[in-house]
Order: sequence, then C-alpha cells, then structure tokens
Amino acid sequence: MRRRYLLALYVLAGCASPPRPAPPPATPPVTAAPAPPAPVTVPVKPPTASGDMIFDAWAAEFQGRALAAGIRPDVLEREMAGLTPDPRVAGLDSRQPEFSKPVSAYLQGVVTADRATIGQRRRADMPELAAIEERYGVPREILLGVWALESGFGAIQGDMDVIRSVATLAAQGRRRAWAEGELIAALKIIQSGEHPRSRLKGSWAGAMGQTQFIPTTFLSTAVDFDGDGRRDIWASRADALGSAANLLAKAGWVRGQSWAREVVVPDGFDFSQTEGPQLTPAQWAAMGVKRADGLPWSDADAQAQAQLVAPAGAKGPLFLLFPNHFAIRKYNNSLAYALGVGMLADRFSGMGGVVRPWPQEQPLSLVDRMTAQRALNALGFNAGNPDGVVGMNTRTALRAWQKARNLTADGYLSPEMVQRLKAEAGVG
Ligand code: CA
Repeated sequence: MRRRYLLALYVLAGCASPPRPAPPPATPPVTAAPAPPAPVTVPVKPPTASGDMIFDAWAAEFQGRALAAGIRPDVLEREMAGLTPDPRVAGLDSRQPEFSKPVSAYLQGVVTADRATIGQRRRADMPELAAIEERYGVPREILLGVWALESGFGAIQGDMDVIRSVATLAAQGRRRAWAEGELIAALKIIQSGEHPRSRLKGSWAGAMGQTQFIPTTFLSTAVDFDGDGRRDIWASRADALGSAANLLAKAGWVRGQSWAREVVVPDGFDFSQTEGPQLTPAQWAAMGVKRADGLPWSDADAQAQAQLVAPAGAKGPLFLLFPNHFAIRKYNNSLAYALGVGMLADRFSGMGGVVRPWPQEQPLSLVDRMTAQRALNALGFNAGNPDGVVGMNTRTALRAWQKARNLTADGYLSPEMVQRLKAEAGVG
C-alpha cells in the first residue's frame, strides 16, 4: 500500500493550464504581478523509488516545481510513478567524439543521391506543400531539406519515451533548467489531452516526431495544418511540414530571398572579412566577390545583407549567407547543418552541387584542437576556454593571429595551422 504524503507548496492563483493549449505567441506573454501567494497543501505521492539516489532526490524536489508550473497533482503522480533514469540517455549525453567531422565530410554524408531522389519524389507527390509554402513563405524544397535531416523524411523519429529521457537529463544536472522546462512542457501536452504519454516518443534528447521538436517548441510552434483539431507532428506530414515552416517563419524567413549563394573572390582577397560584416551583394562586388555561377543577383537578394563564410577555409567553396540561412540555424545552430539543408533544397530543385570542389580536409583530434586553443591564448590571441570546440571565439582569435603573421586569415584550423601554432607558442 502506498502512503499519501502532504506536500506543502505555493500555488499561484490562476496558473492552471487551459484544457487545450492554443499555440502561444513567439515570446512568452508578460503576466501581471501575482497577488502574494497563499501556501496551500496538495496531496502528491512521491515517485516510486527508482533505486538511483540522485534521480530520486531530484524527482522529489521536482514535484514542487512542476506543481507550481501548473501541472495537476493527478497528472504528475501518474506520469512520475515508477519512473527510472534511462542509462542510454546518460551515455549518449556524455559522448564526446575524439575527432571533429570536417564540414565537407558531413555534407558529403548529408547531400546524397538517395536523398535527392526521395526529395524530388516527395516534391512532386505532396500537394499540401504548395499550401504550406503559400501560408508561410518558406520554399517547399527547404522544408523537404529540414524534413530529410531531422527524420529521414519521417522514417526515423526516435522511439524513446520523452518524459523518461528529459527526466534523466534533468536529474543528471548538467542542463537541469533546460531539461526541467522540457519535462514540464511534455507534462503540459499530456495534461491538455492533445496527446497521451504513449505518443510522446522521440530522440534521447527529447526531440519528437517528423520535425524533431522538443516539447517547448511543440507547445509554442507546432500547428494543425491539416485541420483535424490536433497538432500531430508524428503521423501527419501536413502538420509536420507546416510546423517546420511556422518555425522558420517565426525565425525571420524572408519570402523570396535565397538561403545562400556560392561566390568566388579575387586573388589576394582579405579573408579576415569571413564571418564578419553583413553587406549587400553590391558592396561585396565592390571587393570583387561574385556569384560562382556567374548569374546576376535577384532583386530580392540584391537588397539583402549577406555574410561571407569559408566553411573549409580559403581553398574551399565560399558562400554569401543570406538572413534565411540564419533562420535555418534557429532549427539547429550549426553552419554545417544549415548548409546541408540548403544544399539538399538546391538538389531538390534540380540544381547542381558546388562549383568549386571541397578540398581534402583532415579531421583534427581533440588534443590538437585544445592545443591550438592553448597556443592562441599563450600568444595573446584570446581563444577562450581550451575545450576543443572550435567556435566563433577560436576562429576570431585564429584570424587575428593569421593576419598578424601575414597568413591567409580565413580562421580555418588546418593541421598546418596547428603545427605552426604549437611551434610558435612552444606548447604541446
Ligand atoms: Ca492535425
């Protein structure tokens, strides 16, 4: 027999969830300052002991936060009963690959002939794409590219229990606030009656359905495009792609503009301009930057501000990134991911690949990347915490060092740059 415990907590007046969530606005509404909360007692059973002390201690504390966030006691009891941490989630969350994957290798794995064929077929046989494109202004090819990368056109959605996955991440503590927010959002989806727990299946990180939306994104951004009264990103292609289009529209997608264009630059070009200013194509042209295919800019693109990038360094293909590229990065904030979506989209429209071939890139070990960062720091170019993640700080520091040494300042960490840095700084 289970005992009932009384859990004292503060419940704010009027914060119970509505029976069914309307898609909330892009930014959370500002609520008026609540009246001083009155302490009340609500009976809640503790979660069944999982055998994991850290998990159980977290679950007991989480109950109060979930109730305060508007989760009903009966829903909380039912969904937390018997919950245990998922060891697969813990393992995947701590995985740190030994070698970084070069962007060219990633893109070759992503932009494949098989995917191009499936995408072209879907583009031809899904009439709902025209209506989605019309409503949100996002080209169908971009939506198909997102769909391809997120779930293999809906085929690979993940079959893990999202409540258990995000509870495991919350208990681990590394990203507790984020994971608890996702857990509360998942509980709200169940509480609203829109979907049962059995429907909330996804990846180990809580990404669900054909769009791989995390629960908070589902609540804020998923749409019922097919009009059957339910936002079903698992089984309805129209809802899934409509929801992806809504996300990109909210992220600032500009109707009619490109996502990016491959460009070429003249000999002696100053590569320290990469990942730098946002300029119009005409301003870039004044520095000798031209479209690689030699075609003129569209009117819409001519008015846009674009950023120059060299994802594989000065020897590889170069791109002007339009604001729509950065909208794709609201889906997944990775340059390589957004390039992959855009290049797949180009294939779906029948365009070819890059004009300038990708160079042979060498994967760098974690030790090499960390050593390069320590060398930059030692030489007075601040690369930030030497964690082996070659992000904006590291690339900016590398460009400054390359420029100071009269090297091509593309911010690209090649094995040659690692060797030069190690030699100059006397590290490694
Ligand atoms: Ca629907």
